[in-house]
Amino acid sequence: MSKVKPRVPLPKRPPEERVKDFKEVALGFNEEQAIYEAQRCLNCPHQPCTQACPVGVPVPEFISLVKEKKFEEAFWKIKEKNRIPAITGRVCPQETLCEKACVLARVGQPIAIGALERFVADWGIKQGLVKEAVKGEEGRGKVAVVGSGPAGITVAAELAVRGYDVTMFEALHETGGVLIYGIPEFRLPKKIIRDEVEYLLKLGVEIQKGTPVGRVYTIKDLLDDGYKTVFIGTGAGTPKFLGLPGENLSYIYSANEFLTRMNLMRAYLFPEYPTPVRVGRNVAVIGGGNTAMDAARTAIRRGAENVYIVYRRTRAEMPARKEEVENALEEGVKFTLLSNPKRFLGDEEGRVKQIECLKMKLGEPDESGRRRPIPIPGSEFLLDVDTVVIAIGARPNPLMQMTTPGLKVREKEGTIIVDENFQTSIKGVYAAGDVVLGEATVIEAMGTGQKAAWAMHGYMKELP
Ligand SMILES: Cc1cc2nc3c(=O)[nH]c(=O)nc-3n(C[C@H](O)[C@H](O)[C@H](O)COP(=O)(O)OP(=O)(O)OC[C@H]3O[C@@H](n4cnc5c(N)ncnc54)[C@H](O)[C@@H]3O)c2cc1C
Ligand code: SF4
Repeated sequence: MSKVKPRVPLPKRPPEERVKDFKEVALGFNEEQAIYEAQRCLNCPHQPCTQACPVGVPVPEFISLVKEKKFEEAFWKIKEKNRIPAITGRVCPQETLCEKACVLARVGQPIAIGALERFVADWGIKQGLVKEAVKGEEGRGKVAVVGSGPAGITVAAELAVRGYDVTMFEALHETGGVLIYGIPEFRLPKKIIRDEVEYLLKLGVEIQKGTPVGRVYTIKDLLDDGYKTVFIGTGAGTPKFLGLPGENLSYIYSANEFLTRMNLMRAYLFPEYPTPVRVGRNVAVIGGGNTAMDAARTAIRRGAENVYIVYRRTRAEMPARKEEVENALEEGVKFTLLSNPKRFLGDEEGRVKQIECLKMKLGEPDESGRRRPIPIPGSEFLLDVDTVVIAIGARPNPLMQMTTPGLKVREKEGTIIVDENFQTSIKGVYAAGDVVLGEATVIEAMGTGQKAAWAMHGYMKELP
């Protein structure tokens, strides 16, 4: 019998209640649960959990402070390395990072690092601790950050705490990137994002919203205007499509459009907000990532009777977080696995009415390391639908490369090429996050942003 005390489960609202609204599903630890969970930590001197964190959060140190009920110290300890912990505590795939590396994972009970991070971050927000954030004094000069997703936020914070005058340019009318326009309210409340952005404002970061760089200013304009360095963190926001017959039929959305309308334009509050999205009775979401789960769970909340995830591999190969797959199943999303669309069929008015799918089997692993799906000839079947959401991935918008002569990108993926310091082919211009990595994760965008910011600081210190 293992002597390890069991991990405290993260409380969640019951499925039958949560599918009726867009309020947050996971509830977070209370003080007692957080201290109990923190007491399970072994304070390992070699810190495998910290090493597995892309931004290097000092995990055992902050957890020891939680044990001692020193929540304020724990808050600032995390914040030294992770500028938006209330967000990562909610959306990070800890099960593949810090919690996977935790020594207690070997007995199946890793410390709930994400839930503890969330507890401390929420506690700090409630106490108004971010109001105490102050801009540093070491660095001098202006820095431009293009894009306000997790990569841009990290760079802006890292450089503001070092004393630079940071201006952030964001194409949309709200700050946060995918966090605000992609991830739904029931996983990441907008208030949390605004609270985290408040920290940037306290550090003196100026945010110019509604300012697409490449249209309003070019990168060259910014450098000519006295910005010592420019950071590009414009993400991967251009959706990919399947390229199949019938894909242009009405009520076939890209996940980007569907979720942006729902989240950013508050279509889930229609008619209180003026943006509608049609969600029919039978909705199919094509794909198996976090985006697909978010679209499917959003459709359930907007009253769809049947929501199908159509995915060409099995559940084991799904790139979505395990927890979100479980949440989707609990909420009644139906998984049509080992199935791939072949074409979309419409009615006489040009609206989608059916998907013709092919059954698949799994072959040898492909370049992604996952087993390759192989179509089974003659296995076609029809799925009745009135709305389809395509969630098979996205790539960077080409605007930046089109308007920045000399900026090198990978031809096939459209991602920006950087050196080991995250400097692009243009001196003084840096890039990180999804625009460099392709579709990645919030914490990878932050980890690469952090390293880019440190390199930018080094570069600016050497300038005359
Ligand atoms: C629906 C969805 C759910 C996801 N769920 C998770 C999850 O649970 N966990 C996880 O870790 N990851 C998740 N991801 C992935 C994660 O959100 C991204 O990897 C991450 O947001 C990338 O950060 P970024 O800062 O590089 O770019 P983004 O978040 O894409 O931010 C880029 C910003 O740049 C702005 N921009 C673009 N072009 C310009 C321009 N020319 N001028 C000015 N601004 C510009 C955009 O408007 C945007 O605000 C999800 C992604 C999606 C789409
Ligand atoms: S590996 Fe696990 S038990 Fe060890 S310090 Fe990290 S969180 Fe604590």
